[in-house]
Amino acid sequence: MKGVVLAAGVGSRLRPLTSNKPKCLVEVNGKPLLDYQLDAYRAAGIGEVVIVTGYEAAAIENHVRHIDDLTIRLVENVDFESTNNMYSLYLCRELLRDTPFVLNNADLAVDDDIVARLVQDPRGDLIAVDSGQFDEESMKITLTDDGERVTDIAKTITEDVAYGNSIDHYKFSVESAAALMAHVVDVIEVRKSLKDWTEVALQTLIKSGDLPMQPLDIAGARWVEVDNYVDLAIADMLFSELGTELEGIKVAFIDIDGTLVTGDAPIPGGAEFVERARARGIKIYFLSNNSSRAKSDYVTKLAGIGITATVEEIVLSTDGLASFLLSRKTRGVYVLGTRALKASLEELGLPVVEDDAEYVVVGYDTELDYAKLRTACRNLNRGADILATHPDVWCPSEDGPIPDIGALLQMLEATVGKKPVHVFGKPQREMITHLITEYSPDEVLVVGDRLYTDVTLAKNAGVRSAAVLSGETQRDALDGASVSPDIIVPSVANLLVG
Ligand SMILES: [Mg+2]
Repeated sequence: MKGVVLAAGVGSRLRPLTSNKPKCLVEVNGKPLLDYQLDAYRAAGIGEVVIVTGYEAAAIENHVRHIDDLTIRLVENVDFESTNNMYSLYLCRELLRDTPFVLNNADLAVDDDIVARLVQDPRGDLIAVDSGQFDEESMKITLTDDGERVTDIAKTITEDVAYGNSIDHYKFSVESAAALMAHVVDVIEVRKSLKDWTEVALQTLIKSGDLPMQPLDIAGARWVEVDNYVDLAIADMLFSELGTELEGIKVAFIDIDGTLVTGDAPIPGGAEFVERARARGIKIYFLSNNSSRAKSDYVTKLAGIGITATVEEIVLSTDGLASFLLSRKTRGVYVLGTRALKASLEELGLPVVEDDAEYVVVGYDTELDYAKLRTACRNLNRGADILATHPDVWCPSEDGPIPDIGALLQMLEATVGKKPVHVFGKPQREMITHLITEYSPDEVLVVGDRLYTDVTLAKNAGVRSAAVLSGETQRDALDGASVSPDIIVPSVANLLVG
């Protein structure tokens, strides 16, 4: 038994993700789609897999080059732009002579046991079908009255007569493989029709009674055909390490900007998510690197979008800064930040000064003016060091990106040649470690929209993470990223909905 993977297509509906790589190398949960299929062939004990490449063929060649536990035969469909997958199958005709095979399209994330279930079934000719699903976009099948034989396969089959969705995995006996390939050769060589689909060949042969296909119901197994970003979002959730039900999580640190709000506007479903989490006994903290406001301001801001919170539940980047300054018994800090930040440091008994400062604290300063910049530089030129409350370069707003501390730090560095000696806030693990001493790492979750702050914070603290796509991070940035969250969701509205 051999495996055949048709992977020549362009995958244009997944651009820009597929702008310079084939669809089968798009990642779901950090694993390329092709690897889901190859793992399924491995689990079935199939040692030889033919892969038909086309668009970005070199990337696939490169990807499979290091595989040594499978015999991979690459067939390149150089005419992928002017042909369809029946022509790809045609190109495999010599490799598939006198052999039974399993055939699949390369754009699926599937459970490891899908191919094994086809191979272990004693019946010779099978279509893997999910009887529990009806999807407009997918190929559906109909059956004879006794349910034994497939009578049709098409996208156009209506829900009232459909048995279920084909998941684009087929098993052919030697005889059926020969019948299928003879038909494909006829279509390509005699009728000169290069733009047909393999599924149309199957339909023709099934309807004429020349292909005795039977259904293998795989209802309950995980599979997603990834054609577009909506499919990808579903696959991300279904194949995630963590799962949308956040199994085992006892405490969640929820980022505010980009996760619950954009500027002051609520992100739909945010308040309801917090409510659901609390109802399940998950302890909630709200996390922000924004140092322009006091904790009480956040309580008010959250109340404005329907979320009740106490000051104890608000964790800000200034918390770490304050404990650093208190432990150092500093002689003085100049605050390049808001009145709220200045007041919160003064309340802790820290000496806030205009001149002869030991540190210049740079916060997210929504009250910035030139006089403050000038005072900050005077202190820095006289020897003060920079402390930054957080690293974020820009802040999401209703007007799009606006400057945050990182942009300000670049301006100071260009002016006085100094970088911060410490940057607090996310992703420094100290931001949350003092709050999670009673939990095991698996019970702690950080939910946020930024890879370099929220997801990296989780990584630094050794806890779990959920990335939401409601803020800064676009889905494309997650493929090949240096940090990978335990789950990717469009927004918090997709969590705890079961
Ligand atoms: Mg954020």
